[in-house]
Amino acid sequence: MAERLYHVDGELRPRSEATVSVEDRGFRYGDGAFETMRAYGGAVFEWAAHVDRLEATCEAIGLDHGLSRGDLRERIDETLAANDLLDAYVRLSITRGVQPGKLTPGPAVDPTVVVVAKPLPRGGLSGEAIWADDGPAALETVRTRRVPDEAIPAGAKTHNYLNGILARRELHDADEALVRDGEGYVAEGATSNVFFVTGEGVRTPTTDGPVLPGITRRVVMELAEEAEIPIEEGYYEPAAIREAEEVFLTNTTWEVRPVRTVDGIDREVGPVTELLARLYDERVETACY
Ligand code: PMP
Repeated sequence: MAERLYHVDGELRPRSEATVSVEDRGFRYGDGAFETMRAYGGAVFEWAAHVDRLEATCEAIGLDHGLSRGDLRERIDETLAANDLLDAYVRLSITRGVQPGKLTPGPAVDPTVVVVAKPLPRGGLSGEAIWADDGPAALETVRTRRVPDEAIPAGAKTHNYLNGILARRELHDADEALVRDGEGYVAEGATSNVFFVTGEGVRTPTTDGPVLPGITRRVVMELAEEAEIPIEEGYYEPAAIREAEEVFLTNTTWEVRPVRTVDGIDREVGPVTELLARLYDERVETACY
């Protein structure tokens, strides 16, 4: 099989030749922004939201990459087309590139721009759910706390994922870490947002706390509202998650992923999770096909 082609600084290159400089600030310092997206039927789901968040991240870290949204989109479309991909995982990364000097970034930016895409069959209840391979997730509360917004803006999706890596390293027999903020309230997973269901409706930690404003999170909240399921954002203790009727995680690749155990306590995949997963799949269908 031919090698996949990745987009590096405006050129499509075979995967084995798709490399960046060892002096790149993304490699040296995690000085960059990225987005993970999914294409369904060749169309990037929630593209506008992804590019908005990418721009917000670049703004937050003062990375003026000088590329238009159209240019970024074109690089993604070219990567999908070159690899004959319709249903795919897509990652767009922009780093501050190579600069003279050390930690202090200079104003002249020659960004490194990379698009990686690989096949990812459509999930959701009508297809092969992406989480079906791994099954519903086991979630475990970890000691590692979420980096506060005052340290690294929580809304920014930067290359700096050490916080999530340390959280995941703590897991014993689980798929995702339940990460708390500095006060002990639930923030999110290492790469996902957390939802739980009580008799009163659906709950999720507020983005007033150190929580990435997930795009899947926002879509799921809209879907809950449309389905007239009460939804509330707030500050919650881990106990609220442990005692909830249903728990699920959201992110772009997992979509709506049910949780089957929290800190070793088993639970069933419940009807609200199933409904929201189905509605999410219908939203993908309407938006992309
Ligand atoms: N929180 C963190 C820390 C993440 O890395 C992700 C994945 N991007 C999410 C939440 C979920 O965000 P999204 O739904 O936009 O993929």
